[in-house]
Amino acid sequence: MDRTTGFLNEDLERKSWDEQRDFQARRLGEVVAHAVAHAPAIRDLFRAAGVVPGDIRSLEDLARLPVTPKARLVELQRENPPFGGLLAVPLHQVRRVFRSPGPIYDPQGFDEGWGWEEALFAAGFRRGDVCINTFGYQMTPAGMMFDDALGSLGCPLVPTGVGDREVQIEILRALGVSGFVGMASFLLQIGERAKEQGLDPAKDFGLKVAFTTAEPLPDALRASVEALFGATVRQGFGTADCGCLAYECHAKGGMHLAGRAIVEIADPETGRPLGPGEVGEVVVTLFNRAYPLIRFGTGDLSAVDHWACACGRKSPKLRGWLGRCDQLVKVKGVFLHPGTVQTAMRAFPEVTRFRALVTRAENRDVLTVRAEAAAQDNGLKARIEERLREILCIGAEVEWAAAGTIPADGKVIEDFRKWD
Ligand SMILES: [Zn+2]
Repeated sequence: MDRTTGFLNEDLERKSWDEQRDFQARRLGEVVAHAVAHAPAIRDLFRAAGVVPGDIRSLEDLARLPVTPKARLVELQRENPPFGGLLAVPLHQVRRVFRSPGPIYDPQGFDEGWGWEEALFAAGFRRGDVCINTFGYQMTPAGMMFDDALGSLGCPLVPTGVGDREVQIEILRALGVSGFVGMASFLLQIGERAKEQGLDPAKDFGLKVAFTTAEPLPDALRASVEALFGATVRQGFGTADCGCLAYECHAKGGMHLAGRAIVEIADPETGRPLGPGEVGEVVVTLFNRAYPLIRFGTGDLSAVDHWACACGRKSPKLRGWLGRCDQLVKVKGVFLHPGTVQTAMRAFPEVTRFRALVTRAENRDVLTVRAEAAAQDNGLKARIEERLREILCIGAEVEWAAAGTIPADGKVIEDFRKWD
């Protein structure tokens, strides 16, 4: 079976990115007009920004509206229960209501899906694959999202949820399951339990494809699961409120943006859209009529890269999850994230511990990276400083620390600046 080529929706996925954006702009006009007419909270949002629906003619015009973070949705719903003035259809046109921690109520319209079908197809799932869906089915939408998507792909499934590992093993074998949906870390646990039972997951199971989301997928975790099961593991990016936003194809190297939503990367402070390759907050506008989210701030950090992918899909790629906005520190006018510092330092296995310290002297930010290494020579120091400048885009000074003086508490950046 060919699991590596083809498209679920060839017309759409192979359209040039400009054509896809034109299509999105037309749909945006419709959804904005509907939302302002029917959702009081969206009407207030437009009024406060001094914008009328007719002003939003292109995707660029969206930047005239502010970013609404998830915390604001929770507030709106608390002030004006249950939907905070965000529901844009009568309640009898709502198919399901999900309740996520916050609390936040996410309504789903009858004819509105979550768009994971495209992602599963790109991951290699094909009609007839018997699957287990290990995402939870209660309250939060993950279980239902994938249940719907597998159903419309024509994949029979067992709604296992995050059940007992031994029961998952029994089901995998009894039904000859070929597809797994859930977290990669959980699949690894299932495989390890199977090995303890004397099984060889690559031989005793028929697993071919696994789709994972909701947690970062480090290369090492992907490699372990793929080797253990002899299966392909691909990931997607989305949220409980938005559904699928991006997904990997067979070629990997980032996640293609799904055409079903408008994804912007925005400056976490100002909401201004950023350019290709720049790291910022993932901001989403959905085309949903029931629950129209417009410039919804996910709080997740990423970047979008534009390059031609071998698979033939034309959408640019989301670089994956790069951390949360609330972990950002602004240093010398540039956002610094723990993950970026870790990425920079990973190139130096000689460095056993490190910590980035932000201080302020003479009204200027100073970034110092304290590092422990067995051999603390100037050549190494210079190489680290060069790499930090390259990856962080700001200068940092490296200072050697005596062995055991940097606490191993998982902190990467410490901000000592005082603002009064
Ligand atoms: Zn691709």
